[in-house]
Amino acid sequence: MSDQFRTVIEPFRIKAVEPIAMTTREEREKFLKAANFNPFKLKSEQVIIDLLTDSGTSAMSAEQWAGMMRGDESYAGSISWQRLERVVRDLTGYPHILPTHQGRAAERILYSHLGGEGRTFLSNTHFDTTRANVEFSGAEAIDCVTPEASRADSDFPFKGNADVERMAELVAERGAENIGAIILTVTNNSGGGQAVSMANARAVRDLCRKHDLLFILDACRIAENAWFIKQDEEGYGGKSCREIASEMFALADGCVFSAKKDALVNMGGFLALNDAELAEHCTSVLIITEGYTTYGGLSGRDMEAIAIGLDEIFNEDYLRYRTRSTAYLGEHLDRLGIPVIKPIGGHAVYVDAGKLYDHLPVDQYPGQSLVCELYKMAGIRSVEIGSVMFGKYDDGGKLVPAPRELVRLAIPRRVYTQSHVDYIIEAFERVRDQRHSAPGYRITWEPKFLRHFTSDFEPI
Ligand SMILES: *Cc1c(COP(=O)(O)O)cnc(C)c1O
Repeated sequence: MSDQFRTVIEPFRIKAVEPIAMTTREEREKFLKAANFNPFKLKSEQVIIDLLTDSGTSAMSAEQWAGMMRGDESYAGSISWQRLERVVRDLTGYPHILPTHQGRAAERILYSHLGGEGRTFLSNTHFDTTRANVEFSGAEAIDCVTPEASRADSDFPFKGNADVERMAELVAERGAENIGAIILTVTNNSGGGQAVSMANARAVRDLCRKHDLLFILDACRIAENAWFIKQDEEGYGGKSCREIASEMFALADGCVFSAKKDALVNMGGFLALNDAELAEHCTSVLIITEGYTTYGGLSGRDMEAIAIGLDEIFNEDYLRYRTRSTAYLGEHLDRLGIPVIKPIGGHAVYVDAGKLYDHLPVDQYPGQSLVCELYKMAGIRSVEIGSVMFGKYDDGGKLVPAPRELVRLAIPRRVYTQSHVDYIIEAFERVRDQRHSAPGYRITWEPKFLRHFTSDFEPI
């Protein structure tokens, strides 16, 4: 396009601002120690740039705020519910929509029913709350991601794909009747924010058809995923991202959806299903644990904002800016020699801390070390998604590490400008120059599930 500029600008103006409290390194060292070296326990005013998560951290649009005001708070059958139900049905094609207070509530309702002792769930990669909900039910969660994902130098655009052959082997091994569901996470959050191709989703659908298995999309970043399909998958360049997303929904039997991601709101989610009988069971649990069928865990105003967000997210000027600004950070870190997962995903840049801090063994948690260094140096909060998040212990109490020691720099939607990102890049220059002095960490306390949220650490 001849009118296309090299500089991709934020396709919005800023109407309301929030101050950032600046801190000194000395102050941050004190804050981090008081938080037992777990940045989840920092107070938000102690953070300069918050890249902990893209979940629930989006800036809402003027239109969404206007929708909040219009929200209909009727207990049953509210206008805002009708609007949300219509928008989700139009987008997904699934007839049964259950509103929940966030994604994991949808997961709990669905997977506690499908799970239990002896059941197995297969996924390209189970997100941490997905795995926790599956395992909490007594079932087993097995990740089957494409072997391409572990080839650091490969630029394959769909590293989020499932390894469908491996899934087929596991179905044969475990018996189709023992499979709770096959879950395709798009984009593959824990795998590097990497995209999943339509061809891969189709292959998963075929496997599910063949063995009469339930195919669930974990769809909270399906708009970003659709953008990557449009750019990189043969035959999709001329389709709209919304059409691409709808095509993918049509392959599956239902979805769990955290609205805190691509739906551009701060709280919310839903479960959507084709099967009436399964939906009926889930609806009973929804009413007992979340709320009545026409609001679940949500206020009318929340449902209004989600409905608007689900429309805004498919604006392709937005998706271009979104993916470009994430890639901008990733490309600059790559140029600095920081090992990043390539290609750069949609919502985050993933740094391989195991490689960056190759002087630290896995049981000293190099990812946790990088997270602490970034905070001390620049007040940047990020999250470890290596062996703190996914590590296990064997029967002898020895750490079974995660495949990779990653740190995720998640980019909140519509929140930070390019100068914020340039500041992050400069911080990484210091991280690189001082990498040999980064200490290892040990865990001094941990809970049984989702330990990264609340564990305590100390430097070694
Ligand atoms: C965030 C997320 C969830 C859980 O959603 P919450 O709204 O945080 O409960 C599930 N799956 C994926 C892929 C996610 O990114």
